[in-house]
Amino acid sequence: MMLICQRLRKAWEWKIQGMQNEEIIKKMRAEGVNVYKQQMHKIFKNPFYAGMVCHGMLNGRVIEGKHEKMVSREMFMKVNEIHMNSSRFGISHKRENEDIPLKVFLRCADCDQPFTGYLVKKKNLYYYKCRTVGCKSNKSAKQLHEQFIKLLGGYTVAEDLLEPIMFELEHAYFEYNKENLEKGKALEGRINDLKTKIYNAEESYFIRKEMSKETYERFMGMFGQEQEEIASEKDKCSVYISNLKEMLKRAVEFCRNISKIWVSGDIEVKTVLQKLLFPSGLLYDRKIGGVRTDKINSVIKSIACLSGDFALNEKGLKAQFSYQSLSAES
Ligand SMILES: [Zn+2]
Repeated sequence: MMLICQRLRKAWEWKIQGMQNEEIIKKMRAEGVNVYKQQMHKIFKNPFYAGMVCHGMLNGRVIEGKHEKMVSREMFMKVNEIHMNSSRFGISHKRENEDIPLKVFLRCADCDQPFTGYLVKKKNLYYYKCRTVGCKSNKSAKQLHEQFIKLLGGYTVAEDLLEPIMFELEHAYFEYNKENLEKGKALEGRINDLKTKIYNAEESYFIRKEMSKETYERFMGMFGQEQEEIASEKDKCSVYISNLKEMLKRAVEFCRNISKIWVSGDIEVKTVLQKLLFPSGLLYDRKIGGVRTDKINSVIKSIACLSGDFALNEKGLKAQFSYQSLSAES
């Protein structure tokens, strides 16, 4: 532990010398200390390493702790000054981002470059634009946000579809886990066989006295081993259905509120939600003046597909996929 402290201390020194985090991480790795980017950032921001304690019970006040310091208070302050001064962590930067949450997440359909945002001071309106010089693909933030909210609306589930969608998802889940369920059944059969074998051996040894003690014990040892093997196999393929309904319900509830969550969330919530829904980002296509999606989270997609299908079909339970019912499987 002490050794790691000594090595980590170097990171602070390098930072003060003006080194970038990426470079520091590389050097730390060479020293045998594995830190990743976010961790490094957290370490630099944590006053604990300068011997101070900050705790919720102190109302966020920072006091001198009794533990050993890794770096001096001065070193800590210096490093955090560097952070504050770099625009990435500046407050104004964050406030600006609040107005342009789709920045970087949105890419240009023409040149695949991420969009950036800017303020048109005369109109006091934000715009997004492609980063490529000369591309000139741009769009008002207000309009793009409206489009995005509309897009999210397409993945929002109406209240009366909640139950039928849950039903379908449950079936989909079982279908997805069919192999595991079958394997579980086969293992169940092996357990029953084993029980019979144990019963027979006991009968032979205790009741009919046909078996010697050595033979009986050898058999029991074998059976015990087999039992353990089966148990561990069973663990691997168990389908956790105890809280499945609750899990699915939460997922669907989430899908009922996607656009609301995005609209009311702060920049962090928005960013996470955007990433979750559209893992490979979103394209802005100026030819259609709107956004295009390449890839959407598969769970959300199946929920959206189901709700779309239900919405189109008033009779209700006409599913997109035809799943065999579980009872027909055995
Ligand atoms: Zn472009």
